[in-house]
Amino acid sequence: VKKSYHTVIIGAGFSGLCMAIKLREAGVEDFLILEKAEDVGGTWRDNHYPGAECDVPSSLYSYSFERKTDWDYQWSEQPQILEYIHKVTQKHGLQEKIQFGSEVAEARFDEAASTWEITLNHGETFSARYLITAVGQLHQPNTPEIMGSSSFSGAQFHSAQWDHSVDLAGKSVAVVGNAASAVQFVPPIAEDVGKLTIYQRSPNWLAKKLDRPYTDREKSMMRQFPFVKTLARFKTYLRNELLVYPTMKGNPIHSWLIRQLCMSYLKRVVKDERLRSKLIPDYPIGAKRVLTANGYYEALVRDNVDLVTDGIDHIDEQGITTADGAHRNADVIIYGTGFITNPFIYGINVIGQQGRELSEHWSSGAHAYLGVATHNFPNLFFLYGPNTNLGHNSILLMAEAQVAYIIQAMKKADTDSADTVEVREQAETIYDKEIQRRLNKMAWRKIEDSWYKSGARVTNNWPGSVGEYRRIMRSFDSGDFDFQTTAE
Ligand SMILES: Cc1cc2nc3c(=O)[nH]c(=O)nc-3n(C[C@H](O)[C@H](O)[C@H](O)COP(=O)(O)OP(=O)(O)OC[C@H]3O[C@@H](n4cnc5c(N)ncnc54)[C@H](O)[C@@H]3O)c2cc1C
Repeated sequence: VKKSYHTVIIGAGFSGLCMAIKLREAGVEDFLILEKAEDVGGTWRDNHYPGAECDVPSSLYSYSFERKTDWDYQWSEQPQILEYIHKVTQKHGLQEKIQFGSEVAEARFDEAASTWEITLNHGETFSARYLITAVGQLHQPNTPEIMGSSSFSGAQFHSAQWDHSVDLAGKSVAVVGNAASAVQFVPPIAEDVGKLTIYQRSPNWLAKKLDRPYTDREKSMMRQFPFVKTLARFKTYLRNELLVYPTMKGNPIHSWLIRQLCMSYLKRVVKDERLRSKLIPDYPIGAKRVLTANGYYEALVRDNVDLVTDGIDHIDEQGITTADGAHRNADVIIYGTGFITNPFIYGINVIGQQGRELSEHWSSGAHAYLGVATHNFPNLFFLYGPNTNLGHNSILLMAEAQVAYIIQAMKKADTDSADTVEVREQAETIYDKEIQRRLNKMAWRKIEDSWYKSGARVTNNWPGSVGEYRRIMRSFDSGDFDFQTTAE
C-alpha cells in the first residue's frame, strides 16, 4: 500500500530538519523525511576530511531557535557541527520521522488528486500533498573526468568522500583543486605526507581565519547570560552584512580593504615572488567566494609541498602528466574539486503540471520565486533553492526564513480550503527579472565561470543582504499565488 502524507521532505540536512521541526510546531505531524544516506547531517555528515570546519563563525552557525553556547572554536570543526545536528534531531524526536537509505528518483504531480507521487530509486512509492526539496546546493561531489584516471593504480577519492582507511603518512599525494575544501585539508595533511603536489587551475582570494578556541570563561558567560551569546551572534551577523556583503556588490572601498587583507597575509607568509605571483587571482575580489583559512599559505611554503599551475593533461597508472609534458608520480590522488551545483535538484526527475519536467523548465538556468517556488509545479517548495546561496553569511538564516514562508503558504491554503498553491507565472517572471538585473551589477558577474553560475546567469546566489531577504520573507504575499480547489 502506498503511504500518504501531508508533506514529504527530501533530505535530512540542516534545511530538511528545520522544515520538520517547524511543521511540528505548526501542528503538522503527518510528514516524512526521505534521506538517501544512513544518517542526518547532509554537508556535515559527508565532509569529514581532515580540517573540515565551517567558514562562517560558529556563533551564526546554529538554528536561531536552538542556539549553541559551547562551541569549542570560533569556527567550529565538523565533528562538533555534526554532533549538534544529532542532538537537535534527538531533542525534537525526528529520528522516527526519517526513512534512511531512501533515494528519491522521481516526483510526479498528479493533477487529478492534487498530490505528489514520489518514487525511490528502488521502486518504493509515496504520496504527499506537499513536496519539499531540501537536497542542498553543495551535495553532489564533482569529480572531474580526466583522461586515464581509471588506470591510476593508487587510491583516489573526492574530499567529500574521504577514505580514512588510506594512510597518507610518508606518501606522495596529489591534490587536484585549491578551493574551499582544499584550503582546509591541505594544512593538516601536509605535515603527514612525504610529498604533496597541488594542482591549481586558478588561484583564489584568501584571507586569514582568525580562529581560536573559546576560553572556559567565554563559554561560561554564554551559558549563564544568554544575551552574551545573542550579542556575539549579532556582532558576527552585522560584520558580515556591513563589511563583507558590500564587497560582493563591488563597493570599491570594501573591495580594496578585503584585497589589502588578503594581499598582506599572502606577502607575510609567501616570500618567494615566483610562488606568490601564482597565488594572486586575476579577477576582482568577491567574484568568487573569498576563502578564509588557517595554514594554507603556510603549507605551500613547506619543503615537501609543490604548487603546479600547468593544466592536467592526463593521469596514468603512476601519476599525473601536465600540459607541459611533465610527469609527477603519486601514490594517492585527492580531488578537492567541489560540487555539481547546476542543474539544481540533480538526480531527481521532477514532473509538474501537464507532464512538464523541471529540468526542461529550468533548461536556461534555475529560477524560483524568492527561491522557494516555481509556476507549473504546485505544492512544491524548495529549501536552499535557486538564488538563495550567500557569499558572505550563514545559510541557516536563509533556510529558516524559507521554512517560515512555506508554512505561511500552507496555512493560507488551509484557510482557503484550497488543494493547491502555485506561484503565479507573472509574479515569478517579474521577480526573476529584478533579481537578475541586480545580479548583473554584482562581482559574481565579472567572472566567466564559477559554481554560482549556469552559463551567463547567476543561478545560485541571492543579490541582497540577508536582512533584506528575511524582511521580504516575513510576510507571505498571497496575491502572488493561485489557490485552487480540485473539483470533486
Ligand atoms: C565543506 C562545506 C562547508 C560549508 N560551510 C558552510 C558555512 O560555514 N556556512 C554556511 O552557511 N554554509 C556552509 N556550507 C553550505 C552548507 O551546504 C549549508 O550551510 C547547509 O549545510 C545546507 O544544508 P541543506 O540541508 O540545505 O543541504 P545538505 O546539507 O546538502 O543536505 C541535503 C541532504 O539531502 C539528501 N539528498 C540529496 N538528494 C537526495 C535524494 N535524491 N533523495 C534523498 N535524499 C537526498 C542528502 O543526502 C543530504 O543529506 C558548506 C558546505 C560545504 C560543502
